[in-house]
Amino acid sequence: QTTIHWFRRDLRIQDNAALYYALKENKKVLPVFIFDTVILEALDDWADKRVVFIHQSLLHLQEQLEEFGTSLLVVHTDPVQFYKSVRPQAVYTNHDYESYALTRDAAVKKILEAKGVHFNTYKDQVIFEKSEVQKDNEEPYTVFTPYSKKWKAKLNAFFLKSYPTEKYFKNFKACKSIALPSLKDIGFKDVDAIFPERVIKTSIIEKYDKQRDFPAIRGTSRLSIHLRFGTVSIRKLAQVAKKKNEVWLNELIWRDFYAMILFHFPHVEARSFRPAYDHIEWRNDPEEFEKWCDGQTGYPIVDAGMRELNATGFMHNRVRMIVASFLTKHLLIDWRWGEAYFAKKLLDYDLASNNGGWQWAAGSGCDAAPYFRVFNPALQTQKFDPKMEYIKKWVPEVGTENYPKPIVDHVFARDRVLSSYRKALNK
Ligand code: FAD
Repeated sequence: QTTIHWFRRDLRIQDNAALYYALKENKKVLPVFIFDTVILEALDDWADKRVVFIHQSLLHLQEQLEEFGTSLLVVHTDPVQFYKSVRPQAVYTNHDYESYALTRDAAVKKILEAKGVHFNTYKDQVIFEKSEVQKDNEEPYTVFTPYSKKWKAKLNAFFLKSYPTEKYFKNFKACKSIALPSLKDIGFKDVDAIFPERVIKTSIIEKYDKQRDFPAIRGTSRLSIHLRFGTVSIRKLAQVAKKKNEVWLNELIWRDFYAMILFHFPHVEARSFRPAYDHIEWRNDPEEFEKWCDGQTGYPIVDAGMRELNATGFMHNRVRMIVASFLTKHLLIDWRWGEAYFAKKLLDYDLASNNGGWQWAAGSGCDAAPYFRVFNPALQTQKFDPKMEYIKKWVPEVGTENYPKPIVDHVFARDRVLSSYRKALNK
């Protein structure tokens, strides 16, 4: 009887926890990917590049799998319906911590167990999950620094060891090539897109601490889309980080931290981590929001970031912090508007990290920037893009008459946000 390995955010055959156990414990393992109609129907862009990325990754996976005499079954349906219609020996998959996924997986488990089919799930996406790193009193951490200290203290070779799936490739189910649906078949358009390479550039990692804050330099790994869809293994990256640069390791720990926060505090998906911040009276001016989205605020570093995002689906981390602070603090627009815009545009969009980043910038999150910290775009530019190289790349008309006047005066905006925040927080 066939056993299913259900690929989701783990689109690779090497060092994959659930795939390893599926192959080790069974004889006829068939890899399956489901284009989840519940997720796809919520996307409002039929040319979404993330779907193209998944599709390309599946083609690559299938090619690799066919070398081992098996294939990849790709279906386009609601996973709950799919599991109602099959009766495998067992199903193996890796954990996903988002609330939709948790609900879906609970439903799938129930359906399968009612048929006597085991649903086996594993940690794969992060180094430490759920309550693996917690305070001595067994509560979850809400501040990053002590969390990261405990994380590092707990780390040992065991947690970084890769899962040697290749030992058991003989246990894939032998089958003929299965046709993969085209993007058109699933209601999407094939668009030209260039994705960051799946290469760990050690020369970048080695200099990461010195170069990471300068958006004009290629100073960060650009691996975020690969981490998002599991086309690289986090254990592999953490091994490199540990050897080469602790500052980069810290960034990988932030990723674990936000996944842990989302798991323990699922309310952050809709509300502020700190309830008082839900009393802020946002201005939510739709025209100003549109100017921010389009990179037309008259603040060059903000506009450069938004135009980079619109054109490429990527934005440098330093600039993400600046544009998020600008939206929430200078324009007093609800962080959830910005979060939703990023969710639509970022190729590396990840609910936990995006929500964490936005709540950090708005001040409403765990371990967030204090409310009185309002980034000054001009000072940020002087520090991090002193020659305006990044700005000129994305805003070539800067300094000319064609460039808009600032949407709001910095000092005025700063006073306005401080008094609004004070009022909401009773400070
Ligand atoms: P590197 O600097 O090379 O870091 C390596 C990896 O560490 C990244 O790929 C990422 O997986 C992880 N990482 C780095 N910084 C962070 C961080 N602050 N929080 C969590 N993980 C981190 N990252 C996402 O992956 N998806 C998002 O949707 C996302 N939204 C963000 C929204 C805002 C408002 C902010 C301020 C940050 C957001 N980040 C998000 C974090 C960060 O900006 C990106 O991970 C990073 O820019 C990706 O580039 P890189 O792969 O070159 O990262």
